[in-house]
Amino acid sequence: MNLNRNNPPLISPANLAEKVAGHKEVLLMMDYDGTLVSIMPRPDLARPDKELLKILEQLCRLPKYTLAVLSGRRPEELRELLPVPGLYLGGVHGAVIISPDGDFIPLQARTGVEKIITTLCKLADECIKNQPGFLIENKRYALAIHYRLAGFEPAEKVLESFIKESKRLRRQFDLELLKGKEILEVRPKGLHKGNAVSWLKKNLPQAFFVFLGDDTTDEDAFKCIENGLGVLVSEHLRPSNASLRLKSPLEVQKFLELLA
Ligand SMILES: [Mg+2]
Repeated sequence: MNLNRNNPPLISPANLAEKVAGHKEVLLMMDYDGTLVSIMPRPDLARPDKELLKILEQLCRLPKYTLAVLSGRRPEELRELLPVPGLYLGGVHGAVIISPDGDFIPLQARTGVEKIITTLCKLADECIKNQPGFLIENKRYALAIHYRLAGFEPAEKVLESFIKESKRLRRQFDLELLKGKEILEVRPKGLHKGNAVSWLKKNLPQAFFVFLGDDTTDEDAFKCIENGLGVLVSEHLRPSNASLRLKSPLEVQKFLELLA
């Protein structure tokens, strides 16, 4: 298990495809925002183009590859964005998996989380006080505050007050804060993409694992990769549990295209 954070070296899409294509059975897992599609000012604008959907469909049809997209987004939303037959979809950081047959498989066992998330959404709303540029997302098992369009100072103030005001509830219900790319999330401790990776691993024990991701929430998944490769998607060199790096979602698409 690779637990040493290093600066994963850059690899070209062609060289990565060559490394992966040599294996008999491959489980290809990837994050959505910032990995498969570029990050947009609003999450609803980050949509895959036809070309990408076609590549994913082609890959899913090849018996050698099993594909899974693991994201912080709600599973229903992922299904709408990625109508690709044969794809596994892991939503809310792996709280729920939608199988290629359309079955919802819950991996998050804690009860009562939904209620407390709703309370925290109301609290976030009170902290924002109708200021523009914020978006609160109730994801049932987690809550996200998006502030990409809010401006630096208002965002700092809102986050500071939300973090302070939510402290008691977060402690009481064992919830953790997670800072991503202009997004603040609250989720149950222990709920992370690594759980979904482990679940998929049980179903495909022989497969070579590849996980591609760009953000802090992907580091838990990189840590779970034993027989395989973690690939950070980042323009810049930075410490990560991944072992290699691609520059951008465009390079990810290139890599997938070469495999297909
Ligand atoms: Mg991402």
